[in-house]
Amino acid sequence: MNPQTHDVIYESDVFYGKNAFTGETLPTAFPVHGQEEVEQAANAAAEIARDFRRLSNEKRASLLCSIALELEARSEDIVARAHLETALPDARLKGEIGRTANQLRLFADVVKSGSYHQAIFDTPSPERQPVPKPDIRRQQIAIGPVAVFGASNFPLAFSAAGGDTASALAAGCPVIVKGHTAHPGTSQIVAECMEKALDKEQLPQAIFTLLQGNRRELGQALVTHPKIKGVGFTGSVGGGRALFNLAQQRPEPIPFYGELGAINPTFILPDAMKTNPSLAEQFVASMTMGCGQFCTKPGVVFAINSPETQAFIETAQQIIRQQSPSTLLTHSIKDNYQSEVENRGSDNGITVTYSEAQSPNVPAALFVTDSKNWRSNPAWEEEIFGPQSLIVVCDDFEDMLALSETLSGSLTATIHATVEDYSQAHQLIPCLEEMAGRLVFNGWPTGVEVGYAMVHGGPYPASTHSASTSVGAEAIHRWLRPVAYQALPEALLPSSLQATNPLGIKRNIDGLTC
Ligand code: NAP
Repeated sequence: MNPQTHDVIYESDVFYGKNAFTGETLPTAFPVHGQEEVEQAANAAAEIARDFRRLSNEKRASLLCSIALELEARSEDIVARAHLETALPDARLKGEIGRTANQLRLFADVVKSGSYHQAIFDTPSPERQPVPKPDIRRQQIAIGPVAVFGASNFPLAFSAAGGDTASALAAGCPVIVKGHTAHPGTSQIVAECMEKALDKEQLPQAIFTLLQGNRRELGQALVTHPKIKGVGFTGSVGGGRALFNLAQQRPEPIPFYGELGAINPTFILPDAMKTNPSLAEQFVASMTMGCGQFCTKPGVVFAINSPETQAFIETAQQIIRQQSPSTLLTHSIKDNYQSEVENRGSDNGITVTYSEAQSPNVPAALFVTDSKNWRSNPAWEEEIFGPQSLIVVCDDFEDMLALSETLSGSLTATIHATVEDYSQAHQLIPCLEEMAGRLVFNGWPTGVEVGYAMVHGGPYPASTHSASTSVGAEAIHRWLRPVAYQALPEALLPSSLQATNPLGIKRNIDGLTC
């Protein structure tokens, strides 16, 4: 009997996805790839990697735009299949196609601007004493073939043609995607779009490969293959950590950019609690968005004990009771959610309010506790993936501030405050900066803008590399490394570093950008 992962049925060397609503097996068979296919894909990617990284910026940008166009052209097929495989609503999936296409176009702009080269010059000074100062010029180059693990919760924006793939292609790295077993048909259509775009651009198919199926060896073989030079991952702390460890234990360790777990704490300060009557409604809307399967879900809210906080809790509980039940992405995610929520609900010192739900759907759940019990139950800080959250009632602001110092890394941290609360907000911010990749003020963390300034990362376990982002233009830097060229003649220098600046890019000369 073959092992089953994520509700996937395996039959010798093929596997089938499942209908996320009914649990029924979907008809299309997909090949189960393994070590052999990793070997072929990694060798083929390594063979074309040098030419791909040296491709002109215009040509790479054109490829990214072609992929965006192909995805938009297949949007009906993609939405129909992804809806069956993930139970996500059509509107959300259409939005995700738009976001994925815009992400590709953003990276096309980044490539065209040439800013990613980060060209830096130290001008020489042959007369300098006691030793002459050499001519040193530096730029960034692509690291080589990259492995990307598609995420279960974003079948498009964080999967086959998602942010990791788009940023790696933009950097000039060939990509091998390990498709998520929760949506093999969606990944397959996206791979067909990739194939068409590469054909149209007359570029080698080895620039992008989708590998599917898995008996765990697939992901492990990818991460440990000597020709793979970096990894992008979005998923669980357990899976991400296991693969991260493998990447570090290789004879040649490689960068592993994992986005793992986050509880995204929210702090509601007293005057905001008093003066904003819609906070409870906003909170429940954010925690149940996408059935609570967003990595930026507000997983814990800290508030200070007061009549207004009690009213906030009661209103949130009322809204929770009226929530529609949720169909989660896969049956294993559903099973995990149900058992984790039941376990937490049976702990001492916590109360839970559920919405109505009948199988196969799950209820939304809202936990409430106080700071004393929160301190005695460190396991409550662990993310539960699904439509639940926890409100912690603190004794006073000092209690809240002390708790904020104990939290582990998160993607986001949110403050609700009015001007009356600013002195307390000032005290919270330095701690939250050290704990999260993005601070949100008077808003909610769900919804990640894809732009130039976005940071989607943070200290572990939010990510395995806190100095990087997996969303936004800066994500390209994960797949680049600097090279300095000392005393190379003009004729041998890459174009980004030639004196005449043939690319017309912004460069830094002796510390000044020009
Ligand atoms: P996952 O179990 O970590 O799986 C992600 C990918 O890694 C899948 O392709 C999986 O392969 C592979 N994988 C996991 N462990 C592996 C191992 N030991 N060796 C080789 N490959 C391995 O994540 P998931 O499937 O999305 O599961 C859902 C859980 O992930 C949620 O409960 C949630 O906690 C977390 N999650 C977090 C975020 C976030 O952004 N923070 C996003 C999505 C999910 P298979 O498909 O073959 O298992």
